[in-house]
Amino acid sequence: MTILDIHTHHAAPQPNGVIAVSPADFNPAPDQLYSVGIHPWQTVEDTTEEVWEKMEQAARHPQVVAIGECGIDLLKGGPLFRQMIVLKREALLAESLGKPLILHSVKGQEMIIGMKKEMNPSVNWMIHGFRGKPTVAQMYLKAGLWLSLGENFNPDSLSVIPSDCLLAETDESPCSIQEVIEKISSAIGHDITQTVADNAFRFLNF
Ligand SMILES: [Zn+2]
Repeated sequence: MTILDIHTHHAAPQPNGVIAVSPADFNPAPDQLYSVGIHPWQTVEDTTEEVWEKMEQAARHPQVVAIGECGIDLLKGGPLFRQMIVLKREALLAESLGKPLILHSVKGQEMIIGMKKEMNPSVNWMIHGFRGKPTVAQMYLKAGLWLSLGENFNPDSLSVIPSDCLLAETDESPCSIQEVIEKISSAIGHDITQTVADNAFRFLNF
């Protein structure tokens, strides 16, 4: 199995991808890998214990290889204090299960980096759909996070992202993962397909 697409919302089957779903939508198709998480946009209401139960049950499933997407969004979703509480609980769950964390961040770098420093997790953390400037990329990289790029990325940031913590994703894009990788490859100047595949295995701890 080769994983190229570390974060997609495309429907199964995605033989080269990890499909991200919410706990309520987790209904695994055979031979498919998943990440399960409570999105920051789902924090407008309090997360009920029933949702947490579903979350914890799904997280333990052998086809679930990562926790997320979860994270911080300062422009959408519930109040920041609630986003922080939900994220912390998901990060602790990821840590207890030894599964990596896939993060959504809109202007959330200070909160995410602060939480990572405080927790000092042993599992990998990654920002998905990174579109930020080189200075923001450097903040995340310095804190030991991986970065995943999608269809839209800031080409200026490519020169500061080391090839060993770069991932690729389709997220909600209508593009295929091959098209996304081609776009990043041509901006970098060489083909990164094998790099992305190797990195996905390392990120997922396979
Ligand atoms: Zn997503």
